[in-house]
Amino acid sequence: MSKLALVTGGTRGIGKEIAITLKAAGYKVVSIYAGNEEAARALEAEFSITTYKCDVSNFEQCHEVVEKIISDSGLKPGILINNAGITRDRMLHKTTYENWEKVIETNLNSCFNMCHAAINYMRDNRFGRIVNISSINGQVGQLGQTNYSAAKAGMIGFSKALAKENANKGVTVNVVAPGYIATDMTSNMREEDLRSIVQNIPVGRIGNPYDIARAVIFLAADEASFITGSVLSVNGGQYM
Ligand code: NAP
Repeated sequence: MSKLALVTGGTRGIGKEIAITLKAAGYKVVSIYAGNEEAARALEAEFSITTYKCDVSNFEQCHEVVEKIISDSGLKPGILINNAGITRDRMLHKTTYENWEKVIETNLNSCFNMCHAAINYMRDNRFGRIVNISSINGQVGQLGQTNYSAAKAGMIGFSKALAKENANKGVTVNVVAPGYIATDMTSNMREEDLRSIVQNIPVGRIGNPYDIARAVIFLAADEASFITGSVLSVNGGQYM
């Protein structure tokens, strides 16, 4: 029987590509999104991937949605990809507490919320693959992104601790840290900023969502059972 894979933020950008790639690899895939109904309906129509609306920064909603997915599908979560994320960029001296909190809640607390809702099923099944999508900016720090860099760095520590807690239960926890990837999140960058970023990427291009999906598929596989607590950088060599 297919394994059930949950992908947060799985209706647009990187998450959408992860969902499509997992489905093509034979998993039963469910995508979670925040509120963009058009993107969710389009994914369902084009790829027959079921979607659920849930604010992953909300602990109760995460538990409710995991229970609903289990009861609708008759399957327990085997794979969890924590991909949902947002930015609210401002220099620290100009930003608000609200923007700090929103980014930490959506990018970092969401990992706690979703893992908390799914982990006991994985432990009971003696199988689980959790992949948390961090960022190069959590590895190196980025100006204007104290909130985002902190959340993405926090995901790395969180993943290593959770990996240790669950290694003897067949559950692996890994991080994929993308560099700059062409999605809605980066589409409003100025042309000259993008050009100067590409100059610092040894492979000479920004990434595409499939570059990240490939890494996720690798870590989600049954055969990846000896890889846990690792951080896989997928950034064209921009940070090594
Ligand atoms: P994106 O195109 O902006 O898509 C974001 C997805 O997350 C959407 O499906 C969105 O749902 C969902 N989402 C946002 N807030 C949510 C919430 N509170 N609850 C549930 N779902 C929520 O983003 P992306 O560029 O693909 O990025 C995906 C991940 O990769 C993020 O964690 C991001 O930080 C990370 N990343 C991206 C890049 C890059 O260059 N793009 C680089 C490094 C890391 P709706 O469609 O309903 O809004």
